[in-house]
Amino acid sequence: MKIHLPAYSQSLHTIEESLKPEELGLPDALRISDIHLKLQLDRHDPYLDFKIAIEARINLECDRCLEPYETVFKAEGPMLFILGSPPADDEVDDTDVEYIPLGTRDLDLADILHDFVILAIPSRNLCSEDCKGLCMNCGANLNTESCTCENKN
Ligand SMILES: [Zn+2]
Ligand SMILES: [Zn+2]
Repeated sequence: MKIHLPAYSQSLHTIEESLKPEELGLPDALRISDIHLKLQLDRHDPYLDFKIAIEARINLECDRCLEPYETVFKAEGPMLFILGSPPADDEVDDTDVEYIPLGTRDLDLADILHDFVILAIPSRNLCSEDCKGLCMNCGANLNTESCTCENKN
């Protein structure tokens, strides 16, 4: 995913694209659909002020009932690029700001988008908030069947 900078004037642009996970170096094992990317670029050199928004579907396994399910996840956030070299006294370790050499023609966003997607993937996986899970005793999926264990206990 590269932004060809000479194509963008000193104004506000909206860039929308559909990206394959492999274009961002995301492994197949993550089971992510194509990623819908919406970029807003507010260009006023030396500032390239991006708003990044991504949305994709992912196949997960429920932590409670172990059934596979599909869900949508999304994320958005800012990213600022500054053309030129960082000031010598730049002690600030701000990950949302990056300096790029003057004269850069193609700005590669693959690494940034890769991290963006990784951080957006849900860490707590439930097929639904009220998933009943599996019976601890017989392993029945209590969302789809009722077992008789409760009666016996
Ligand atoms: Zn579940
Ligand atoms: Zn049971």
